[in-house]
Amino acid sequence: MHEMGIIIHLAKTLDDIAARNRITKIGSVTMEIGEVSGIVTELFEDAWDYFTKRNPVLAGSELRIETIPAVTYCDGCGKTYGTVAFGRTCPFCGSGETWLVRGNECVIKEIEAETAGEPEDSGQEIGAETAGEPEDTGQGAGTGT
Ligand SMILES: [Zn+2]
Repeated sequence: MHEMGIIIHLAKTLDDIAARNRITKIGSVTMEIGEVSGIVTELFEDAWDYFTKRNPVLAGSELRIETIPAVTYCDGCGKTYGTVAFGRTCPFCGSGETWLVRGNECVIKEIEAETAGEPEDSGQEIGAETAGEPEDTGQGAGTGT
């Protein structure tokens, strides 16, 4: 279960982010998953379901998956082509000297979150910036008799 491992890691990352930013609830998470990352999105979603039910911060949150098409670059002729269709062999020149440009991603693209406390009801700290000390504003600095 490759996917479960990733989700465990993902859930932990989201927990950390939530703790650091005082996030009480994560509404949705958008993941970018490459076409040839080896992740089966259905299993990924199952694992996500399993975890969101056990994590209050993630409860009810939505997982959105954006698939990134895999692209391979050919060293032989300098062209790029769709990895899924042609694999490691360049369809233009037949070279095997090719490498994956993208399509192996598994990254968090976006998190929609709710933070603790409304921005309105913390009217405590007003006044900190008013009536500051009279810093020298350049007055009467006239030297030189
Ligand atoms: Zn080629």
